[in-house]
Amino acid sequence: MAEQQANQITLETPVQFLKGVGPARGKAFGELDVRTVGDLLEYYPRDWVFLPEPVQICDVRANQTVCIVGIVEQTDWQPYRKIPIFEITLADETGLMRVVWFHGRYLINQLEPGKVLLVHGKAKKYKYQLQMSNPKFIVLQEDQPRGPEAFSGPVYPATAKLQSWQIKKIMRSHIDEMAPLVPELFDEAFSKKNELMARPIAFRQIHGPDDEDTLAQAKRRLKYDELFLMQAGLALRRYHVQHGNPAIPMRCEETIDHRIRRRFPFILTEDQENVIGEVVADMAKEIPMNRLLQGDVGSGKTVVALYAALTAVANKCQAVIMAPTEILARQHYQNMERFLKGSRVKRELIVGGITGKKRQAVLERIKTGDVDIVVGTVALLQGDIDYANLGLVIIDEQHKFGVHQRAGLRKGRSPHCLVMTATPIPRTLAMTAFGDLDVSVIKHSPPGRGEVITRWVQPHDRNKAMDFIRQRLKAKKQAYFVYPRIDSEEPGDSEKTDIRAAVDEYHRLQSTVFPEFKVGLLHGQMPTEEKKDIMAAFRAGKLDVLVSTVVIEVGVDIPNATMMVIENANRFGLAQLHQLRGRIGRGQSKSYCFLFAETEDETAVSRLDIMTRSRDGFEIAEHDLKLRGPGELFSTRQHGLPDLKIANIVEDFDLLNLARRDAFAMIQIDPTLTQKPHALIRGELIKRFGTKLGLVDVG
Ligand code: ADP
Ligand code: MG
Repeated sequence: MAEQQANQITLETPVQFLKGVGPARGKAFGELDVRTVGDLLEYYPRDWVFLPEPVQICDVRANQTVCIVGIVEQTDWQPYRKIPIFEITLADETGLMRVVWFHGRYLINQLEPGKVLLVHGKAKKYKYQLQMSNPKFIVLQEDQPRGPEAFSGPVYPATAKLQSWQIKKIMRSHIDEMAPLVPELFDEAFSKKNELMARPIAFRQIHGPDDEDTLAQAKRRLKYDELFLMQAGLALRRYHVQHGNPAIPMRCEETIDHRIRRRFPFILTEDQENVIGEVVADMAKEIPMNRLLQGDVGSGKTVVALYAALTAVANKCQAVIMAPTEILARQHYQNMERFLKGSRVKRELIVGGITGKKRQAVLERIKTGDVDIVVGTVALLQGDIDYANLGLVIIDEQHKFGVHQRAGLRKGRSPHCLVMTATPIPRTLAMTAFGDLDVSVIKHSPPGRGEVITRWVQPHDRNKAMDFIRQRLKAKKQAYFVYPRIDSEEPGDSEKTDIRAAVDEYHRLQSTVFPEFKVGLLHGQMPTEEKKDIMAAFRAGKLDVLVSTVVIEVGVDIPNATMMVIENANRFGLAQLHQLRGRIGRGQSKSYCFLFAETEDETAVSRLDIMTRSRDGFEIAEHDLKLRGPGELFSTRQHGLPDLKIANIVEDFDLLNLARRDAFAMIQIDPTLTQKPHALIRGELIKRFGTKLGLVDVG
C-alpha cells in the first residue's frame, strides 16, 4: 500500500511520502504549513536567481557583473559614516575583494568571518581597488553543493531545519510528477483572451524556470489565479447579500428631504450631497445597501449617517448606529441629540452601563417598535435584541469590525447597511478587504476648519514646546497628551526605559509641569463610568489637559481642544498618528500637534516627516502602504479572505483589476458556479473559503 502511494501521488498525498522527504523533513514542512503535495506546489520561491558561473577574484575586471565564491576573512560595521556601511573582505585562492553593503547593520550576525559566500554584483573601481557594493549573496552551507547549477534557480523561504537548497532539491526531483496533477481552471478561450500560461506549466516553471521571460509568465498566471479566486469569493459574498432576503425599499421624496435638512444648522458640502445621493438611491432598492463610506476625521460622515437614519424612520423603519467603543457611542448619541432637539423621533442609547430592568424596558420598546433609532456599541450585533422593523444598520469605524461580524448582522433579515471609516483606505484595499462593498468617499471637509500645525519636537526643544502650551492653556484652550502605554510596569518588556506611560506622566504633569491647571487621566482600563465622567469634564472645559492613551483615537469631537502632544511618537503607526491628530483642528482656531520623538530609525523618521508635511488622509495612507507593505497593513485572514501566497495587492494592482473584472463577470453569469467549465473553480473556492460562500449544501 505504502509503495503504491509512493508511486502514484495525488495533490492530497502527504509530503512525507515523497522520496527524499520522510517523516523528519515531513514534520519540518508541516511547520511551514506544507502538508500535502498540493501545499508543496504552492510553497513558492521568494526569489529566483539567474547567475553566471563563478569566476576567480584575479579574473574580475572593473564594471563586470560577476559571481564570486569566497570565504569571509574580515567584517567591519561602520555606523558613523554619512551612510553607515557593513564591509567585508572576501578571499579565494587568487585574491581579495572588498564588499560593502550600505545600511548593512542587519548583516552583522549573518556574515561572520569563516563563512563561505557567493556574491553576485558589479565590480567597480574605488580608490584604485575593485570593490562590490550591495551585491546579492548566498551563504553556502558546508554540505551544500557548489556547482553552478546549485546557485541558479529558485530561492525558498527557509528555516533552520529546511534550507532553501534542500527544498529546491526535493522540488527538482518531483516537479515532473507533481506539476501535471494540477488542474487547469479556465477553458481555452478564457486563457487565451487573458494570455494566461497553462496552469500546470506555470507550476513547473515557478519552481524551475527556463529563463526570465518564462518565469514572468508563470508568475503572472499564478498571481492571476490567486487574485481571481479571491475576487470570485468576494463576488459571491456580494451576490448572496444582494439576492438573499430583500430589503425594504425606502422612499425619500421632497417633503422628507426637507424635513431632514431642517435639522442641520449648516449647508451640506458637495461631497456630503453626493454621498447622500448614493445612499438614498441604494436605500430605494429592494437589494440591501452594502456601502462603505470613507472620509477623513471631521469630514462630516455623521451627518450622512443621520440623514440615512432619518430616511429609514420616515419610512417607518428602525435604524441602529453602532460605534466601536462606548465613548464613541455616547458621542454619536449626544451629537444626534444636538440635531434632533424637539424632534418626535424616538431614540435610545444602549451601552454597558445600562443594565437590568432599565435595559429590559428599552429592549421591550425596541421590540414593539417604540424606538426609532438605537445607538450603541458592537454589543448590538451580538445580542439578544429583537427589532420590530429594522431597516438600516450603520456601523462607524468599520476597520475595527471583522467581516464575520458584518456578516452576522444579516441573519434572518436584510437591513440596508452603511459602514463608515475615517481610515482612508487605499484603492487596493478597497478592492480586497472591502471588495464586496460599494464605496463612497468624502474628500473635502466642511469649510471653516482651523489650520493644524504639526511639529516634530526633539528632546532639547521639549521645554520650549511646553512653555508654548502653557501660554495657550492660560488662554483657556485645551490639550491632549497621548502616551503609548498606560503603566511603566507592563510585564514582558525589557527596554522600557525611554517609553513614557500615561499614569506616571499624569502625576508628573499635574504636580510639577502644570500645577496651575487641571489635568485629567483617561485610559482603557478605567471603569466605564469613570471614563465617561472624565470625557464629560473635558468636554465641559472643567479639565485643561487630558492625559490619555490611544483610547481617544477615533471620533472624539471637542473643538476647543486645539493642542495635542504625542509622546514617543515614533512608536505609533502612521495611520494611528493621523487618527490621533484628527482630534484637533475641529474648531475655527489654529491647532498645534507636537510629535515628541527621539529616533534615527529610517521609517520612523519618514513617518514623522510626512506627518509634518501633510494632513491629507489619503496621501498619508498611500505612504503608509508603501512604508509598511500590504503584508503588515492588510492581513487577508483578518478580513476573512484566504492568504495570498504569491500575489501582492500593491505591486500587482493591474492584475488585481483584471482578475476582479473577470471574476465579477463570471459570478454574474453563473452565481452558483454550476456550469460545467466552472466546476474546478467551484472546487478551488470551496477549498479556500470552506462553507462560507454558500457553495456547499450544509446538512
Ligand atoms: P466625522 O464623523 O466624519 O469625523 P462629523 O460628522 O463628526 O465628522 O463632523 C465634524 C464636525 O463638522 C461636526 O461638528 C459637524 O457638526 C460639523 N459639520 C458636518 N457637516 C458640516 C457642514 N456641511 N458644514 C459645517 N459643519 C459641518
Ligand atoms: Mg464620526
